[in-house]
Amino acid sequence: TTAESRLHRFAEYFSVARELQSRYQDSIRVLIGFETECCTGYIQHVESLRNRFQPDYIVGSIHHVRDIIIDWTPEQYAQASELVGGIDALYCEYFDQQHELITALRPKVIGHFDLIRMHDKDYRQRLEQPKIKERIRRNLELIKELGSILDFNLRAFEKGATEPYVSQSILQMALELGVLCAPGDDSHGVATVGLHLERGIEILQQTGFSTDWPVPSH
Ligand SMILES: [Zn+2]
Repeated sequence: TTAESRLHRFAEYFSVARELQSRYQDSIRVLIGFETECCTGYIQHVESLRNRFQPDYIVGSIHHVRDIIIDWTPEQYAQASELVGGIDALYCEYFDQQHELITALRPKVIGHFDLIRMHDKDYRQRLEQPKIKERIRRNLELIKELGSILDFNLRAFEKGATEPYVSQSILQMALELGVLCAPGDDSHGVATVGLHLERGIEILQQTGFSTDWPVPSH
């Protein structure tokens, strides 16, 4: 696909979604948004899409570090990690980029906050490293300050993870800081809408979150 055909498809998504939003407005409150990337030039690009399509909200997400995808193959993950000087450094850069993204775009939802752990089997210990943990805290404090919502991403279960994004230690810190959190299926199609939702709600309840879910608004 070319950039042009992707943009065409994106425009079609918005026009179909707006039509459905108005058709079902009496029975369902549908909000229409899109998820960001974080590659070179992304801030300007997202702002221009935002101006053109006027989404109800956006989801601020990162899938690349230094333009290398980190949630696809282990080889690409290793390549990104080598480029920045190791896995600890990769986490630090990921969370620094995330801070930049949230500051610049102020997304109402933060997608899969700790996706960087995806190909790291030692992630639980790594999340406790002071320089990583302090970045996590800093970013959560910013999310709290903006009143944005942490996505409790249940698609993680589909990819073999034993817990959602975010990990339990981060979820606990978010709760203590008063960050809003809501479960999300991150569905990529009709077939997986609502997948693992009960399991996610149960974890959030057990951790101490309210199930009066926050709604992203302007
Ligand atoms: Zn994503």
